[in-house]
Amino acid sequence: MRTIEHWIDGSFTHAVGSATSPVFNPATGQQQAQVALGTSTDVDAAVQSATRAFQEWGQSSLSRRTKVLFAFRELVNARAQELAELITDEHGKVLSDALGEVQRGLEVVEYACGIPQVLKGEFSDQVSADVDSYSYREPLGVVAGITPFNFPAMVPMWMFPIAIAAGNTFILKPSERDPSASLLLARLWQEAGLPDGVFNVVQGDAATVNAILDHPGIAAVSFVGSTSIARHIHARATASGKRVQALGGAKNHAVVLPDADLEFASTHLIAAAFGSAGERCMAISVAVAVGNAADGLVNILEAQARAINVGSGRDAGIDMGPVVTEQAKQRIVDLIGSAQRQGAEIRVDGRGIQVPGFESGFFVGPTLIDGVEASMDVYQQEVFGPVLALVRVKSLDDAIAFINANPYGNGTAVFTNSGAAARTFIRGVQVGMVGVNVPVPVPMAYHSFGGWKDSLIGEHHMHGPEGVHFYTRGKVVTARWPHDSSGASFDMPTAR
Ligand code: NAD
Repeated sequence: MRTIEHWIDGSFTHAVGSATSPVFNPATGQQQAQVALGTSTDVDAAVQSATRAFQEWGQSSLSRRTKVLFAFRELVNARAQELAELITDEHGKVLSDALGEVQRGLEVVEYACGIPQVLKGEFSDQVSADVDSYSYREPLGVVAGITPFNFPAMVPMWMFPIAIAAGNTFILKPSERDPSASLLLARLWQEAGLPDGVFNVVQGDAATVNAILDHPGIAAVSFVGSTSIARHIHARATASGKRVQALGGAKNHAVVLPDADLEFASTHLIAAAFGSAGERCMAISVAVAVGNAADGLVNILEAQARAINVGSGRDAGIDMGPVVTEQAKQRIVDLIGSAQRQGAEIRVDGRGIQVPGFESGFFVGPTLIDGVEASMDVYQQEVFGPVLALVRVKSLDDAIAFINANPYGNGTAVFTNSGAAARTFIRGVQVGMVGVNVPVPVPMAYHSFGGWKDSLIGEHHMHGPEGVHFYTRGKVVTARWPHDSSGASFDMPTAR
């Protein structure tokens, strides 16, 4: 069985006989490799390497850093297909979607190529006689990223391009379900001229994560994953003195108003709910139909959901691949069953789907559930699968109140032709990322990505200006170049 290793100090490594975890191909249901599970010794080796590398990288000029970033950008772009194939084979999403994920990650690399512009500080001339003051930001040192299975390239790329461009060194702990993309990215960094030790990958699970959280040599931790783990990460890493940003789970609602173009809304809802088999933190999992929009909408949704082609992500013409594991499939199937038992109507049922040639794959078909109520398990839990729940409310105000009562606040959208209604929605909804006739409002790299409430523990959003802020700390210099020796005082310094 092939072993997927760590990447520490510029080379592959794993301790012979160390614990491993199986890596499946979700389309076939077969185990294709095993991934090494890093111990505290592996984490420490990565921290030692990253600490040594920081001595040089943290002092390197902006032009040297951007040269490496531009080269990395070209290499990822040239190898995007290979990266996408690795993602599809371990995650299950269709190839075109995997390519889209690489593209969204590349956009953060492109933003980081402009780091000299965003790191420019501020200068005040002559704040006192012969005194100038200026402020700028310095890197933190060794920082770490812990990432989820659903975007094995894009989510790490929300983090490390900016961290590295800002002069930090980085340790990535990818998801153990789809760990291979991280290693291709590591090799591309090396090819781009990044010194060994600036980017390291330690594979692993919860024990590896805890070794990262406790390590005194790591200054900051970025996390993306489920909310309960985000809380754990935040509590444990802040307890050991680290700066932490921890993005959690989601339950994203799209409101459809009666004045919306229902055909347009439905087409976009279907793509947003079932793209990547619903395994996106910005997937729409709840359609909130207002007033008489509901009946027309549900009929179009049903027809469109039935037309989705489900199959292996490697095959042409496939819209939706499998979910990531057998356990994920079982959990999703159970939640659909609970909705049925609790009184909802299953309009399209994805349980029991068979994909010819892939009978052992982890497939759940598109599922549309009407009449969902807030008390039902399928609404209370993050399904993270190809299930779209339809909720019916009377008014826009009711829709906003319904969304605001949910503990999550990652993404949301409204479908309408009314600017006034859209504005009411934008201003009233307690969610971090809002779309107007855009169901998956993932911000571009030069804005920051982040939810509210249980979707973000901590305060910094990712990439864009907040990403730069997270991976740097401010320094303010007050400098005097005196003409004479006057001006000393025992009083609090004031300008003269
Ligand atoms: P997860 O929380 O199970 O795992 C995320 C990471 O944490 C992985 O690297 C995993 O190895 C590690 N981990 C798992 N259990 C741990 C434990 N007990 N202690 C320490 N570390 C642990 O999430 P997942 O299943 O990989 O990804 C899906 C989740 O991620 C969903 O909840 C989804 O909404 C969320 N997500 C959120 C965003 C966002 O931007 N808010 C983006 C992508 C995914």
